[in-house]
Amino acid sequence: MMQKSDIRMRGFLKRTPVKTLLSLVRNKSNLLPSEDILTLEASGRILAEEILSPSNVPDFDRSAMDGYALNAESTFGATSYNPLMFKVVGQVTPGNRFIGILKPDETISIMTGAPVPSGANAVLMAENAELLNNHIQVLEAVPPGKHVGKIGEDIKKNQILLRQGRLLRPQDIAVLASVGLKKIKVVRKPKVDLLITGNELLKPGEKPFGVQIIDSNSVMLTPLIERDGGVLANVHHIPDDRDLLQKYLSETVADLVCMTGGTSVGIEDHGPMLVDELGELLAHGIPMRPAAPTGFGLINGKKIFLLPGNPVSCLSAYDYFVRRSLSLMGGYSDEWPYFKKKLKLATKISSEIGRIEYVRIRIEKDHAFVIASGGASILSSTTQADGFLLTEEDSEGFAEGEEVEVFLYD
Ligand code: AMP
Ligand code: MG
Repeated sequence: MMQKSDIRMRGFLKRTPVKTLLSLVRNKSNLLPSEDILTLEASGRILAEEILSPSNVPDFDRSAMDGYALNAESTFGATSYNPLMFKVVGQVTPGNRFIGILKPDETISIMTGAPVPSGANAVLMAENAELLNNHIQVLEAVPPGKHVGKIGEDIKKNQILLRQGRLLRPQDIAVLASVGLKKIKVVRKPKVDLLITGNELLKPGEKPFGVQIIDSNSVMLTPLIERDGGVLANVHHIPDDRDLLQKYLSETVADLVCMTGGTSVGIEDHGPMLVDELGELLAHGIPMRPAAPTGFGLINGKKIFLLPGNPVSCLSAYDYFVRRSLSLMGGYSDEWPYFKKKLKLATKISSEIGRIEYVRIRIEKDHAFVIASGGASILSSTTQADGFLLTEEDSEGFAEGEEVEVFLYD
């Protein structure tokens, strides 16, 4: 689809519309296969199978009250004028069973959660019974089934518990555990490699030195990848060395690679040509500001995202494209993970038709103030901002006072 020719130092000849790249990314981001994991570790994961309950919960009739288990029919006719007496022949607590069958005029004291014995079909609340020696006095009739949780009351054997595709909540995995499922199938998380390139880069933790700068992209992308359901497999720091990059790109086993830096049209930007040579470069250069030098391709079925080295561009391109790819591969929704707020614009924003601007916004007195729309290298603009907005591809921006939707970073 792209030209095999060298476009370095010639600029982008043609840009792929953002919508086109987005649908390409979506098309290629198929759901990953499943893996078995411990139920205990499955909260937040996507269920990859339909689950039928292998058992009843509870698997016995249980008392819902602390009180006395008895045969309801034997209480019929009881009133305060005509109290009926039941002999207390035992006691049962949860985890134990009363051995034996209650006779019609017998009862046992029973605690919440304990199994209701044979011969009983109701529980009289402790506060409604009068204990006299080894007997209780019953002053009113108890209907059959009163305060008894029937077998399967919570969950019935073979009922559908959870459907495929479910984002598992803590209570979901608790339900799965309660029917005895130790392991379940969930969608595998995409494995992500970061390929951080640039001769000028020092690793995070090192001291900035001379004309060298610290790689901040990997620090930013690491938690974002985790947020979006990916697993960071490796972080490679590689100089702008064609051979080293080629070796890495052809050998990666990650599902998705984020290459940052070296993805534009500079003399040391080897990324796009390497993807083109080793696989398929599906897009390179988009009308998004900042983030124009974004590209996307495939090498041996692995998704390769070419992200600009400039940190703000890297952030916006990651959030717009990579995030969605990871979410879709992992079975999650690819909705924006930010709260949105409608605000009036304090100043106008102009944007070229055909271009999307990633505008950093500060919020004050319910108005949106523009911090920056360009400034690809000014990472602190994103820490000063409360959020961002995206201009529409087919509009010239927004007028002062117009209501806009701002995505909040927090
Ligand atoms: P490039 O995309 O390689 O043309 O780089 C564009 C700008 O981003 C240059 O000023 C780089 O020094 C800077 N840059 C590249 N990679 C990183 C990184 N990992 N962290 C911070 N800045 C970077
Ligand atoms: Mg560079």
